[in-house]
Amino acid sequence: MSQSDLPDIPQLFSSDGLLAQAFTGFIQRDEQLSMAQTIAQAIEQQQSVCIEAGTGTGKTFAYLVPALKSWQEHDKKIIVSTGTKNLQDQLFFRDLPNICQALSISPKTALLKGRNNYLCEYRLEQSLGSGRFQSRSMLDTLQRVKEWSSQTSSGDLTQCSDLGDNDPLWSYVTSTNENCLGGDCPLYDECYVAKARQKAIDADVVVVNHHLLLADMVLKEDGFGELLPDADLVMVDEAHQLADIAHSFYGRRFTSRQVMELCRDTELEAMTTAKDDRQLTVTTRRVEGAINEIRLLFGESGKKTNWNQIASPKLQKLLLELKAELKSLSNRLEMNASRSKGLDSCHRRAVDALQTLVLFDEQKDKPSQQESAVRWVETYRQGFAIIETPLDIAEAFEQSRNEQAAHTWLFTSATISQAGESEAQQNDFSHFKEKLGLHQAKELVLNSPFDYQKQALLHIPRGLPDPRDRQYIEKWQEQVLPIVQANPGGTFVLFTSYFAMHKVKDLWQQAGQEAGFDRQLLVQGEKPKNELIEDFREQGNAILLATSSFWEGVDVKGLALSCVIIDKLPFTAPDEPLIEAKIQHMRKSGKNPFFDLQIPEAIIALKQGAGRLIRDAQDKGVLVLCDPRLIANHYGKRFLQSLPPMPRTREQQVVINFLQNLSE
Ligand code: SF4
Repeated sequence: MSQSDLPDIPQLFSSDGLLAQAFTGFIQRDEQLSMAQTIAQAIEQQQSVCIEAGTGTGKTFAYLVPALKSWQEHDKKIIVSTGTKNLQDQLFFRDLPNICQALSISPKTALLKGRNNYLCEYRLEQSLGSGRFQSRSMLDTLQRVKEWSSQTSSGDLTQCSDLGDNDPLWSYVTSTNENCLGGDCPLYDECYVAKARQKAIDADVVVVNHHLLLADMVLKEDGFGELLPDADLVMVDEAHQLADIAHSFYGRRFTSRQVMELCRDTELEAMTTAKDDRQLTVTTRRVEGAINEIRLLFGESGKKTNWNQIASPKLQKLLLELKAELKSLSNRLEMNASRSKGLDSCHRRAVDALQTLVLFDEQKDKPSQQESAVRWVETYRQGFAIIETPLDIAEAFEQSRNEQAAHTWLFTSATISQAGESEAQQNDFSHFKEKLGLHQAKELVLNSPFDYQKQALLHIPRGLPDPRDRQYIEKWQEQVLPIVQANPGGTFVLFTSYFAMHKVKDLWQQAGQEAGFDRQLLVQGEKPKNELIEDFREQGNAILLATSSFWEGVDVKGLALSCVIIDKLPFTAPDEPLIEAKIQHMRKSGKNPFFDLQIPEAIIALKQGAGRLIRDAQDKGVLVLCDPRLIANHYGKRFLQSLPPMPRTREQQVVINFLQNLSE
C-alpha cells in the first residue's frame, strides 16, 4: 500500500487524536482504547478474539478503527457482520463513512443484504404481465414499485415507501435462491442482486448481516459465484445471536411456501410459454391441494411440534401423496423445460423439493440422525415448515471458519459471558465459545463506563409466589403498578410470554379506567416495532408492554425510558423442540442441562433486557426483576452477579422516591 500509515491506536483514541478532532463530544475512554488495542493485536497476530463490551464502551469505533487501519497499511479486506438490517444501515450509512472521513481514508465500501431485499426486475415484469391480482390495490402497488424502480440505483426495496414491511407483494417482486435464473436471466445485466454482489466482491469493507455471512460460509449459492470476497478480517457484532441463526444454516428444511411459490411461478411461466399444456396447471393445483391437506392436519398456527409427536399413519399417507404429486409436476415440467429458462428453473426446483422430501423420509429412522439432530414442524397462518437441525453446530461452524481465508475473527456483543459459578470466576465465556467451537479464541471483558451505582437501582419485590403459581401474574402486576404510576417517565415492561402480556394489558387497562390514570398503554403487535418505539419515545411517560423481540435493540434515552420491569427470569420454554432435544441429549451425556444450558441462555437474555435501561452517562432509572427465584434459589446469585453492579432494594418506597427524584 502506498498510502501513509495512520497514527498508532492510543494516539487515534486520545483526547487530541483524529477521532476527537472529528467528533464533537468524543471523549477518551479506557475501555474503548483497550478494545481497539486488543483487536489491533489480534489482527497483527492473526488470532480470533471474543470481547464482551458493556453498553457505552463505543465498540463500533473500537473495532472499525483498527480494522480500517489494517486496510490502510496492509490492504486487509474486511467483512463486518451485524445482527439486523437496521444495524447494517446504521453502520454503513453513518459510522463507517464518518470514521473514514475522520481518518481521511477512502476504502471501497459495500452494503450487502439478503436477496429478498432487492427488487427482481424479472419477477416484477412477470407479475405485471400476468394480469392475475387478488385486488386492484395489488396492481396499484406493483405499478408504484415499477415507477420507483426507475429512480433507484441500489434496488433496495426497504427504501421503497410504497411497499410496507408485511406487504404480501414482497414475494412477487423479489427473488429466492430457488427461483432466480442467475446467468440465464434475460435481465441479468440490470440485476440489482448481481450488481450488489459484484460491488461486495470488489470492496475493501463489506457490511453484511449474520444470515448473509452464514449463507456465504455454509450454502455457497449457485448462479452468482461467490457471495462475499475473501476477507482477512471478519468482525461479528451482536455475536450473541450468531449460534441460533447458524442452527438453521446447518440444517435442512422443507417449506410449504417454497412449493406454493413453485406452483405460482409455474403457472405464470406456463401462461406465456406453455399455454397449450393444460395439464401443467392441473398438476400444480393438485400439488397445492396436497400441501393444503397437510397444513390442515397440522392444526393451530404459531406452534412448533417435535416430529415424533406429530408423526402418524395419516401424515405418512399425505406426505406420500405430496411426493407423488410433486413427481408428476416434475415430470410435466421436464417435458416443457426446453421451452423457456423459467420453466427449466421450475423443473429444477420441483426436483429439489422432491429430493428434500425423500431425504427426510430416508433419514427419519436412522439412529445416528435421531441422536444428533432434531426434526420438528412449525405452523404459520397459511403454511408450515418441516425443519431438521443438528443439536450441535460447533464442529461444523469451526470447519466453515477454517475454510474461509480470514485469520482474524472478532466476536463482540454487550452480552456473551456470564458470572462464573464461584465468586473468583468473574466472567465465563465457555457457553458462548462451546456453541461455536471457538476454543482458541482469546477473551476480554470490558465493563460499561457508566456509573451504575449512581445511575441505577435494582428492585426485587418482596412476597411474590413462585412463578409457576396460578396467581403469579396478578400478584406481580399488583406489586409493580404503584411503581409504574409513580414513575414520571416511561416504563418498559418485558414479558416472557404473550399470555402474561395480554393478561397484564387487560388488568392495567381496567385499572387505568378505574383510577383515571391517563398513561398511554402501548402493546406489542398494535403497530410495527419501530413505530411503537417511536410513539413510546415521543410520549415520554408511556407504558410499553412487549415480549422477546423487544428485549434487544431498543435504544430510548432519558426519562422516556426510566423504568424496566421484567416479569420473570427468561428461561426458554423446555418444550421448544430444539431446546428439548438438547436437554435430553445433555442428560444422556451426563451433563446438567439446567446449569450448562438453560441458566447461561437465560442470563444472556436477562442481560439484554436489563441493558435497555441505562443508555448513556446521563441516563437514570430502575430495573425491577419480578422473580423470587433470584433470592430463594442458589442460582439466583449468578443472574445478579452477571448484571452491572447497581444498588439493590426490596423496598417499594425506595424505588418510588428514586423515580420521583428523576423529574426534579
Ligand atoms: S438474475 Fe435473478 S434476481 Fe436478477 S433479475 Fe434475474 S431472476 Fe431476478
